[in-house]
Amino acid sequence: MGMAMKIIITGTPGTGKTTISRELGKIMGAKAIEVNKLIKSKKLFSKIQNGEMIADFGKLKKELARLLRSNNTIILESHLLSDFKLPADLAVVLRCNPIELKKRLSRRNYPAKKINENVLSEALDYCHINALEIYGERKVLQVAATKRITPKAIMARIAAFKKTRKSPTIRWLPKMGARELLKLGA
Ligand code: ADP
Ligand code: MG
Repeated sequence: MGMAMKIIITGTPGTGKTTISRELGKIMGAKAIEVNKLIKSKKLFSKIQNGEMIADFGKLKKELARLLRSNNTIILESHLLSDFKLPADLAVVLRCNPIELKKRLSRRNYPAKKINENVLSEALDYCHINALEIYGERKVLQVAATKRITPKAIMARIAAFKKTRKSPTIRWLPKMGARELLKLGA
């Protein structure tokens, strides 16, 4: 019936997870959980390092598995979700061109080191490679989010993926020229 499913949305910080999850949750009539907020509100962290909460993965996994069990349709969203397995039906990995990502993260006033780490992660397909390892090809859908994508369009991608189990392949580095690559390090 309809779109009953448990979805995790992951991707490098700045790819649009929170924005897209909220919009998608609205049109699916599903809860959209911003995992980073949950870590704070339920104190699922082990320590605070340089002002950032370091998640307690044991506690976090338990809480997220509980949420997935108790909701037929739910969206969980965080870059952390490509690091461990949850009982989800589908993992959506949002992708953003690294040069555009660098602009988005600069607007957030992240320190240079954090911007560079995240831009490099995106350029090297870090979240997608991890998600594939954890969930396998049949459960991982990549979605290009460099340009605005509507929740309706994402719903359509999900529906098509459920039928074909074929995701588009998004790899940034092979498409980038030397000039663009240099921009990443600048
Ligand atoms: P994440 O939760 O993955 O860190 P956000 O949802 O916070 O990402 O979005 C990061 C920034 O990029 C926000 O300023 C948001 O307005 C913007 N943004 C999100 N998705 C898009 C998009 N598809 N196109 C352009 N800008 C976007
Ligand atoms: Mg977010």
